Amino acid sequence: MDSRSSEKTKLIAVVLIALFFGFLTGYYLELLLIALAGYILWSLDLLFNFERWIERGANVDEAPSGGGIWDRLIGHALKIRKSLKLERERNTKLKVRFNEVLRSFPFPTIVLNGRNEIQWINKRAAKILSLQRKKDVGIPIQNIFRYEELSRKLRSPEATEFELKSPNGDDTLMMTISKLTRNVRIISIRNISERVRLDASRKKFISNASHEMRTPLTIINGYLEMLKQNKDLDKKSIEMVDIAYEHGQKMDALITDLLILSGLRDAENANKISKYVNFSSVIDESIINLKNSVKFKQKINLDIDKKLELLGTEYQLYSIASNLIENAVKYSPKNSEINIFWGKENGDGVFKVIDQGIGISQKEMDQVTEPFYRTPDAQDQNIEGTGLGLSIVNESAIRNNGIFSFKSAPGKGSEFKVTFKL
Ligand code: ADP
Repeated sequence: MDSRSSEKTKLIAVVLIALFFGFLTGYYLELLLIALAGYILWSLDLLFNFERWIERGANVDEAPSGGGIWDRLIGHALKIRKSLKLERERNTKLKVRFNEVLRSFPFPTIVLNGRNEIQWINKRAAKILSLQRKKDVGIPIQNIFRYEELSRKLRSPEATEFELKSPNGDDTLMMTISKLTRNVRIISIRNISERVRLDASRKKFISNASHEMRTPLTIINGYLEMLKQNKDLDKKSIEMVDIAYEHGQKMDALITDLLILSGLRDAENANKISKYVNFSSVIDESIINLKNSVKFKQKINLDIDKKLELLGTEYQLYSIASNLIENAVKYSPKNSEINIFWGKENGDGVFKVIDQGIGISQKEMDQVTEPFYRTPDAQDQNIEGTGLGLSIVNESAIRNNGIFSFKSAPGKGSEFKVTFKL
């Protein structure tokens, strides 16, 4: 018999007994009311017992017994309690394992919840960031490190990286923020001070060496230029002077590129001389200057917004225009078209140089912005260059609030683009 019919049977029995005594005594209604009130009170009593039992923790040994539906209710409650217990045990085990994994992280690590509050810090992170593991847990990380950059990166839903000075100011740290689950993010920290120091000394070396080479080279080039104009030289000597002069000029261009690149890498110098620049004039100037040194064998189409200005450093913007246009000319065949665009797209200032040249293969795309990298195609076809142009463009774009990107297909052409936040 199911519990519903057993409860019905009990109620019917109570009613029948009341009616039977009613028949004997003649007080039908009174006895029926008394019997029903008794039944309700008994049910209420069981309900209170049940509630008290749940409140006390629903232990098996203390389970009240009422038969029928009450026993079933108690059975369900016991089942739920058991599955909750199992779940809790599983969660505790998971938490222990999670903590073990985090503890064994070789990097300083911080765990944040969905509100960016610190949930967990390992010893290494506490040490490097001067945090107190007990005190700082529960505090939003942006309240501890008040960096605009950090707040911005925390708003980003994707994994991001950014550099930060350690609180004692001695170290440079690389913070990588990655998402673990919907509401858990991990910040792992690397000390990159050594790399930064090496970078700085390499940059200083390049800059010093280039400066030191520039003075004697200017003198050599000056004498070679004078020699070139000397009418008394025989044909063989003129040829030799011409070759020496040409190489002197290449050397000069290389040193200029190195000086620009080492200057660009110096964040201190960058942005200092920002002003509103008419980029259209910069493009015109680059084309005029390039025409003096490179032969334009292609058709150049210009689609330029003459009024659109850009806040930036003029010489860096010039480097961007001149390097990209020069590359398009160098790496494109005769009579092909080069399209140059400067204008507004989705609220950004966009500069594009599109050519129908030799293009760059997929596997070389990551490398062409590295200093001194030249594709085998460029070298096989004896196209001159230093391999510094695109790294200068990339660095200049970053320094001027821009993003450098490009698309290319071998044999079909390339589209180089710098998107500036206006
Ligand atoms: P380079 O002085 O060699 O031109 P860059 O840094 O400007 O140095 O370019 C790096 C390499 O990228 C080049 O050697 C060339 O192989 C490739 N490259 C750059 N621009 C283009 C282009 N417009 N078309 C095809 N390849 C290009």
